[in-house]
Amino acid sequence: MRKSQLTIYNSLSRRKELFTSLHPERVGMYVCGPTVYGDGHLGHARPAITFDVLYRYLQHIGYKVRYVRNITDVGHLENDADSGEDKIAKKARLEQLEPMEVVQHYLNRYHKAMERLNVMPPSIEPHASGHVIEQIAYVQSILDAGYAYVSDGSVYFDVKKFNSEHPYGKLSGRNVDELLSNTRELDGQSEKRHPADFALWKKAAPEHIMHWPSPWSEGFPGWHLECSVMGEKYLGEVFDIHGGGMDLMFPHHECEIAQSVAHNGHDSVRYWMHNNMITIDGKKMGKSYGNFITLDQFFEGTHPLLTQPYAPMTIRFFILMAQYRSTLDFGNDALQAAEKAHKRMLEGYGRLQSLKASAESTIPNLEELEAKMYEAMDDDLNTPVVIGHLFDLCRIVNQVNDGTAKATAEDIEKMQGLFRAFLFDILGVLPPDAAGADMNIKPYEDAVDLLLQIRAESKAKKDWATSDLIRNRLAEIGFTIKDTKDGVEWSL
Ligand code: ZN
Repeated sequence: MRKSQLTIYNSLSRRKELFTSLHPERVGMYVCGPTVYGDGHLGHARPAITFDVLYRYLQHIGYKVRYVRNITDVGHLENDADSGEDKIAKKARLEQLEPMEVVQHYLNRYHKAMERLNVMPPSIEPHASGHVIEQIAYVQSILDAGYAYVSDGSVYFDVKKFNSEHPYGKLSGRNVDELLSNTRELDGQSEKRHPADFALWKKAAPEHIMHWPSPWSEGFPGWHLECSVMGEKYLGEVFDIHGGGMDLMFPHHECEIAQSVAHNGHDSVRYWMHNNMITIDGKKMGKSYGNFITLDQFFEGTHPLLTQPYAPMTIRFFILMAQYRSTLDFGNDALQAAEKAHKRMLEGYGRLQSLKASAESTIPNLEELEAKMYEAMDDDLNTPVVIGHLFDLCRIVNQVNDGTAKATAEDIEKMQGLFRAFLFDILGVLPPDAAGADMNIKPYEDAVDLLLQIRAESKAKKDWATSDLIRNRLAEIGFTIKDTKDGVEWSL
């Protein structure tokens, strides 16, 4: 195991901290997953790729990681800004589907998009709808602790009471005394004691089709609750890393902290990590701006704002060309530049495979370059610097290729190792020969070569039956075999 000096920016302390795991070998990591209300979009791609790189890097430096990414699939009326009706319920009603059919449909599409972006599946992907019993028990414990109240079948978290004993707003830096005094007093019709209070359990309206029985009403859990509950269930009362997009800091993650403090008497999360937001041509992405582009539209180039389709690996490469805490603006020019850069990098890797080794070495020290790459990863996942060093490597490859520098066989092997470790394993960019997700086709190529070698030997022995059998069967599978004066060439 490589001794790592990984530092990560903790949104709670607002500084970079050396990462140490709660358990010596195993890291517990929770990331807020998608609400499966519709097709995956760029806002889903950035956190998925950011925390995929963290997941990969932690494993690379020797940790076992339990990575939990939840699926939000229960109704959340008060977080739905577009309409009063839950989106899953609305779609199910309009199309006469079971709500779970809608959830499954979008979840399948989300998984497919993630696979195309080469995002590794998490260790556990719990559904909020599959943890209603645990959520009810959690609400009851907050009620028992005195930080919540029942109001007309719904249960609300008492922010004012909580804040009088524990600081509420410490993650997002909101001054809650101000928030509490500035917000307009509620009219007598509200169920809440105070506008800052949030729902732990919500009584379902009669037309609401996703609901479960509870001690308080037939209803559904509040959105913030599922992450506190499922995080604790799968990672324990205290775990290492909680991640998500910056837009989730308030109120979502702030509410999660309040819930777990109310439930356990202490914080659950040691490092809070947030990726910054994306914009499109300088504007926030949103349906009302007309720039809401789904991942499939990016892959197929079917949105009017796009001048061409962009391959999933172009998008991944582009996202990693920025550090996760900086903003990232999508536009055709920037994406095309990323497409070219990605291609150049794969060309460099391709050229490396056929470099001729020399007895002497005149290239820069590769150990030093490797150390710099680890240093960049350890510096709060500074992926653009890692990519910069990979381009340094490409320049070395080009110099050796055109004869202006010399590399030994050992150098070449080392360079191949650096590409494999940083570009493919850690950054998760697919190698050029990857046919599917992260498939290595080299062994299959070797197997075809072996068959052709057997065919050549059969021909030499005039065993025409065997040589024809191999040729014909390979042709049936789809291989083109060409006999040349130097031997045999094949393609698929
Ligand atoms: Zn969450």
